[in-house]
Amino acid sequence: MYYPAATREDHDPFDVLRIAPTFLQLLGFIHWSTYRCPHCSDVFRTDYWSDSIRLGRGERTCRHCANVFDDGTREWPQLVKRQKRKYFVPTFIVAAGVSLFLAILCVPVILLGDRAYRVAGIVLLVVPLLWWSMRFVWVFLSIRRYNADSR
Ligand SMILES: [Zn+2]
Repeated sequence: MYYPAATREDHDPFDVLRIAPTFLQLLGFIHWSTYRCPHCSDVFRTDYWSDSIRLGRGERTCRHCANVFDDGTREWPQLVKRQKRKYFVPTFIVAAGVSLFLAILCVPVILLGDRAYRVAGIVLLVVPLLWWSMRFVWVFLSIRRYNADSR
C-alpha cells in the first residue's frame, strides 16, 4: 500500500564554522535531521546520525492526526547489501572503531597501568559486543515481521 513519505529537515547551524581555523571547526560536525508527518507536520523522530538505517514496516500512524504515512523504515529482506552493511557498521561505529584502534595502541599502558585502565579497556570491548548483539535481535525480529506480513 502506498503512503505519503515523511518529510525531512536537515539542521546544520554550525556549518559556517567548518572553515574556521580553530577548534571551533568541531562544532561544524554537529547537525541533526527531524522527520515530520506529511499530513500535519508533527515531529516523530530526530536523528543525530545522517542517513541511519532503521528497521520497521515502513508505515507509521501519526500520534497527532492519526493518518498513516511512510516513515522510511524498511524490513531486513527489503534492504540492499550496502544498507545491510551500514546497519551493522554505521558511521559512528567506524569512528568508535578508530578510537578503539587507538586505544589498543595503548594496551601496554593498560597492562602495565592500574585498575582504572583495565576497566576502561574492558568497557571499550564489551559495549560494542552488546550493541551488535542487540542489532542481531532486531534483524531477527524484522525478518520474522516481514515473513508474517508476506503471508
Ligand atoms: Zn500527522
